[in-house]
Amino acid sequence: MLGSDHDRIGGSRREFLRTAAIAGGSAALATSGAATAAPASLPMVTLGKTGQKVPALGMGTSWSVAPSFVQTALAAGIRYIDTSESYEGGASERTLGEVIARTGKRKDVYLVTKNSRRKIGGPGAFAAYEQRLNASLERLKTDYVDCYYLHGVTGKEIPLFSDPDVKAAFEKLKKSGKIRFCGLSCHDKMLPEIVTAAAECGWIDQIMIQYNYRTMNGDAIRRALDAASKANLGLIAMKSQAGAESFPAPDQAPAPLRPMIEKGFNQPQAAIKAIFAEHRMQAVVSEMTNRDQLRENLAAASNPVLSIRDQERLEEYRQATAHLYCHGCGQHCEPAAGGVQVAEILRYLRYDEIYGKRTRARELYQALSPEARDIARTDLAAAQAACPHGLPVVDLLRRADDRLG
Ligand code: SF4
Repeated sequence: MLGSDHDRIGGSRREFLRTAAIAGGSAALATSGAATAAPASLPMVTLGKTGQKVPALGMGTSWSVAPSFVQTALAAGIRYIDTSESYEGGASERTLGEVIARTGKRKDVYLVTKNSRRKIGGPGAFAAYEQRLNASLERLKTDYVDCYYLHGVTGKEIPLFSDPDVKAAFEKLKKSGKIRFCGLSCHDKMLPEIVTAAAECGWIDQIMIQYNYRTMNGDAIRRALDAASKANLGLIAMKSQAGAESFPAPDQAPAPLRPMIEKGFNQPQAAIKAIFAEHRMQAVVSEMTNRDQLRENLAAASNPVLSIRDQERLEEYRQATAHLYCHGCGQHCEPAAGGVQVAEILRYLRYDEIYGKRTRARELYQALSPEARDIARTDLAAAQAACPHGLPVVDLLRRADDRLG
């Protein structure tokens, strides 16, 4: 699907991107300005061992998506869409299904959805996954999805990858034609271990992981990407904007960032460009809910080259502001947190405070077990001391409980 003669064939990503030619239109969103101008093209990439050619920018739909906006995105050239049975209680799948069916674009779109419920291993695996998938297909008004994910895989669930019943279940779904490829999504604190296990298990085709300029530096994630790349997994970044909110406004920018801002890059654009500096990441799935975000994302993905100097500037800025952002590395603080799930709670706080998604954040927070959010009876000073990034863990958890509890 989505074939393009301009796909990457050898050479560096940067070299490819310099020479990429037109692969998808977005004239509907034309605007002015160097960094926000509508792109003439979205680069096409081959998604690992799936062999599928997809645009380097996909649309995430975890917040409520309006039918008119989905239609605008399709008209603007979006051809990779990511959803889940859990997003907005199934409403995201319903909206996408309705618009894709109405516009007749199903065969033009690389469509991913996810099993978000308890992940089943053992002999009941096939029945459980097929039942969930059938419900998604009904909402999506289609008889297949391009890739079906295990959603939000955690470190405890790594054994599922080597469970023969889970592997057989996904292979049977493939044979039935209801899914074309198998995948997973992950933003767990054990992300490097999960990526490595997915690379080794042999039946996962693509993975979508939390990856942004705040989290991309680290030996563990680099080694995991090495393994994933060697196994030829399709590699997709999500949560690309995490931390972008602290990218400074132009008039407050510290000296190292001013040249980049003067070039016209805004927060989301710099964040997306930083991801593409890692040539092994093939695509970015970015949440978009309005035309401005769509326009900016298209502009950033269509011209994703970030100079080496600008990459250095971003890294300097990341290091100087690491204490402002929870990196999700709960392996450091949670052993001292008496069962409180610090990383999850701070992620929900971000959904509320940064993305303005209070209802969803409250739902997620209140779905945690009482022990996981029992901050009143737990001495969290040791957890704060264990945070390598110097976050004020105690204050942040209290604020999360006030706002979401
Ligand atoms: S509070 Fe600190 S150690 Fe804990 S997950 Fe966040 S950044 Fe990592």
